[in-house]
Amino acid sequence: MQMKYQSPRGTQDVLPKDSKAWQRIITAAKEALEFYSFKEIIVPIFEYTELFQRSVGESSDIVNKEMYTFMDRSERSITLRPELTAGIARAYIENGLHREPKPIKLWSYGPAFRYERPQVGRYRQFFQISAEVLGSNSIACEVESVFALTKIFNNLNLDYRIEINSLGDDASRRAYKEYFQKYTKGFLNDLCDDCKKRYEQNPLRMLDCKVVADQEIFAGAKKPLEFLTDESNKRFEGIKSLLGLYKEKDCREIKNIVTNPNLVRGLDYYNDFVFEIKSTSEILKGQSTICGGGRYDNLVESLGGPQSPGFGWAMGIERLMLVVGECSKKNISVMFLSNQEDIFNYSNQLYDLTKEKDLNVNLEVIYNPSNISKQLDAALKKNVDFIIFYLDNEKEKNVFKIKNLQTREEIECMKDSSSMVDLLKSEYNKTKK
Ligand code: ATP
Ligand code: MG
Repeated sequence: MQMKYQSPRGTQDVLPKDSKAWQRIITAAKEALEFYSFKEIIVPIFEYTELFQRSVGESSDIVNKEMYTFMDRSERSITLRPELTAGIARAYIENGLHREPKPIKLWSYGPAFRYERPQVGRYRQFFQISAEVLGSNSIACEVESVFALTKIFNNLNLDYRIEINSLGDDASRRAYKEYFQKYTKGFLNDLCDDCKKRYEQNPLRMLDCKVVADQEIFAGAKKPLEFLTDESNKRFEGIKSLLGLYKEKDCREIKNIVTNPNLVRGLDYYNDFVFEIKSTSEILKGQSTICGGGRYDNLVESLGGPQSPGFGWAMGIERLMLVVGECSKKNISVMFLSNQEDIFNYSNQLYDLTKEKDLNVNLEVIYNPSNISKQLDAALKKNVDFIIFYLDNEKEKNVFKIKNLQTREEIECMKDSSSMVDLLKSEYNKTKK
């Protein structure tokens, strides 16, 4: 018997019925990012393993448990990227982008890979849209990104909440680390194995532990916000003020934004401002975070580049797909049935005309249909909006016959592409109402 193949665990196919919603997410992000002058960068899907060990960090779950790492044929250790920022920072240094006028604003889109337990909204291959501002430590980076993200999510009609926090600069985090190690020392035996490791490597990461018993222990501890240096505190207050957190709730540009003092992020490279955007939809269960990011002023330098402050974030497309509603702007599907050679002149002209008249058309030309009634059945099954007949009869009369499959009406129009597009447009607007 022929073997049946299945996609690898944690991967999925985006089927044609869903690809329109997928594109809508990318377009919404691209439009907002381009408005704010982000430029696209495309970097490799795999990199040398050291890059991620160094940037994402040895104490992160990603590096410890989730990377797809293998030796290539010349015994170099290769890793499928678990996120996009590390590769972008590498490209920024390697291509000397840091010598160009700053800030450098980059965005990218593509798959990332993490060996996780697959569940709703959590996969082993998933797609991210990632945006980075390199070479600026102005709090404008944070503020502008939050505004751009609200444009994207509002455009997609999502319900969401923005949670922000500050981890502080090096000195703040050093002070907190010292305090928090002291606080947790007495509980060390009660903590999960991961937290025992984090205690040594990166105590701050314990706050991000998902184990409830551990969280109960940490609940009594002071938060990183209480250890901010004056400088870091000033930054965070500045951001909050620009984001309108001190205004009356009704007067705020962004209404659904709160400070969450427990928020730390899963990657090692963040300092000062961090944030997450959570969908308030029930569908995503534990995977409600649709976007996360923060400031990473030491990342570029730690990868061997010049000191360049940075700020960035990433959002997960599959999670958004689960909460984004049906797409309202539909393409019009048109089927041409013809046995006339000149049909291809018209179908070709149609392309430019539909663009000119802002009509999104999916065209299918059935040339020399062997059985017209069979073609009609097929068109009905496919849910085609219009069939355009151009057979011997129409050729003789110098017309196209257009059948609107919603109203079942048949209308003739003059045989030129422009009249055809006008008729399609007015017929389509009729059925939309
Ligand atoms: P989580 O806490 O849910 O594991 P994370 O902090 O590991 O998320 P990031 O590294 O910040 O996630 O990645 C940014 C975004 O990418 C997430 O907010 C999420 O939308 C998406 N994402 C991360 N991991 C996955 C995954 N395994 N499957 C699908 N989407 C993911
Ligand atoms: Mg994760």
